[in-house]
Amino acid sequence: MTTLSNTEKQIVENSIRDIKDFPKSGIVFKDITTLLNNKEAYGILMNHLYQRYKEYHLDYIAGIDARGFIFGAALAQMLSLGFVPIRKKGKLPYTTISETYALEYGTDEIEVHIDAFGEKKGARVLVIDDLIATGGTANAAATLVNRTGARCIECCFIIGLSFLDGIEKLQEKTDVYSVIEVN
Ligand code: AMP
Repeated sequence: MTTLSNTEKQIVENSIRDIKDFPKSGIVFKDITTLLNNKEAYGILMNHLYQRYKEYHLDYIAGIDARGFIFGAALAQMLSLGFVPIRKKGKLPYTTISETYALEYGTDEIEVHIDAFGEKKGARVLVIDDLIATGGTANAAATLVNRTGARCIECCFIIGLSFLDGIEKLQEKTDVYSVIEVN
């Protein structure tokens, strides 16, 4: 397993752009498009994730709709693993199972194909998304993975908002790793 050097961490962190008051007043939106189009930062990040997860004996990477697809699909290919999309309700065409989770106002729902992780019971799955805030989305994703008969081994985020208690709550269910922690 590798850790990022302070210089590498700075390059990744500095490549993420803060957009104030998006999508609504009071939110600081972490824009990862400026990480993705920065080949040095994107390369450092993906190499780091590859080095970290190559010894985890994973069977699948599951990415959360939609930015988790970008990192998850790239990482799955690097690790020679299959990729599974966990999607917002109504997008997947085959039989699904779903989980509802609370938002600040109201609820949302995510789904996965019932057979997404194959026949083998206990397939080892890494769940990935760009960011954890309250942890509601990732918690629902980890629950979905486990409900299929597979096992969520870890949830990985590029950015963890550690001033919220999402990471702590999710740690009750699974291991959690954030490349960058924002206090
Ligand atoms: P949560 O369920 O509260 O942990 O929210 C995580 C999901 O919402 C992730 O899919 C993120 O992409 C998105 N999200 C929440 N807060 C932010 C933020 N400040 N900047 C960018 N994305 C966010």
